[in-house]
Amino acid sequence: VKKRGARYEKQARPVKQAAVLGAGIMGGGIAYQSASKGTPILMKDIKDDAIELGLKEARKLFAKQVERGKLTTEKMAERLTNIRPTLAYGDFGHVDLVVEAVVENPKVKEAVLAEVEAEVSEQTILTSNTSTISITRLAQNLKRPENFCGMHFFNPVHRMPLVEVIRGEQTSDAAVAATVAYARAMGKTPIVVNDCPGFLVNRVLFPYFGGFSLLMEQGADFARVDKVMEKFGWPMGPAYLLDVVGLDTAVHAGEVMAEGFPERMGSLAGGAKGEGDSQSAIQMMFENDRLGQKNAKGFYAYE
Ligand code: NAD
Repeated sequence: VKKRGARYEKQARPVKQAAVLGAGIMGGGIAYQSASKGTPILMKDIKDDAIELGLKEARKLFAKQVERGKLTTEKMAERLTNIRPTLAYGDFGHVDLVVEAVVENPKVKEAVLAEVEAEVSEQTILTSNTSTISITRLAQNLKRPENFCGMHFFNPVHRMPLVEVIRGEQTSDAAVAATVAYARAMGKTPIVVNDCPGFLVNRVLFPYFGGFSLLMEQGADFARVDKVMEKFGWPMGPAYLLDVVGLDTAVHAGEVMAEGFPERMGSLAGGAKGEGDSQSAIQMMFENDRLGQKNAKGFYAYE
């Protein structure tokens, strides 16, 4: 992987201006990371309050750097100006690379990607931060599918080193190269992976969530499972991790995984035995509006 990444990077067009679509958990984190490493980024959402939240989160992270003595107040102010919030596509004509980070719904993503493609230049690289949806599938309505690939960050973006760069069937080497180089410029460790639902990490992670959901349906205590998995050596247990990810995102991603691998992932989408009419514990949480940290109530309660 390292060798492939190095080959790609030689041909990379540098990303001088980036943009992110969506100012949620991931979009806000991506904007902060890009700004903090010196690449200006437009942060577009369709909701004013989402942009406010994204900016608030970025300010908080910059303030922590100042508190720790890693950044001066002047530098913080300067880096914050690297994030330009917007509700419109106005300046997208000058953007080198776009990261799409809207809801995990293939139809919404396809529509948003086609919309942004009409606003950017012919050289602009479009990427998606989708957790699970095949990149080849997301490319199907694009006029320039060769300029499109996956750029999958992990949550929280400022702490997690890995970025999966996903090649769709039509993705060009140049698109992969620019994305790998941008990930490196953001201080991340990119790996180039092939396309399939869930890519590499979520193909491993989602069966684990499915196993956890099954345990819940059989009456296990989620806090105990978390404690046990922490003692096993994981930084956090599955219930807490699901709260961090967002139960809505986990359910939507779980549906994509169940569609892609029905025999293995059925328990996430259709209940304990993979039956269509029963619900999984994770789905029940979502349907009871327990979305995790984003609305302060998930498996645990938050301030
Ligand atoms: P989120 O719900 O926190 O944020 C989504 C944001 O997208 C919202 O602010 C919403 O207003 C905005 N949005 C919706 N339609 C839009 C449009 N047309 N244009 C611009 N903005 C729009 O979700 P999130 O957790 O940040 O997830 C975003 C993407 O990142 C999903 O594809 C998800 O699967 C992926 N992802 C999530 C995680 C995670 O742990 N949460 C990790 C990796 C990848």
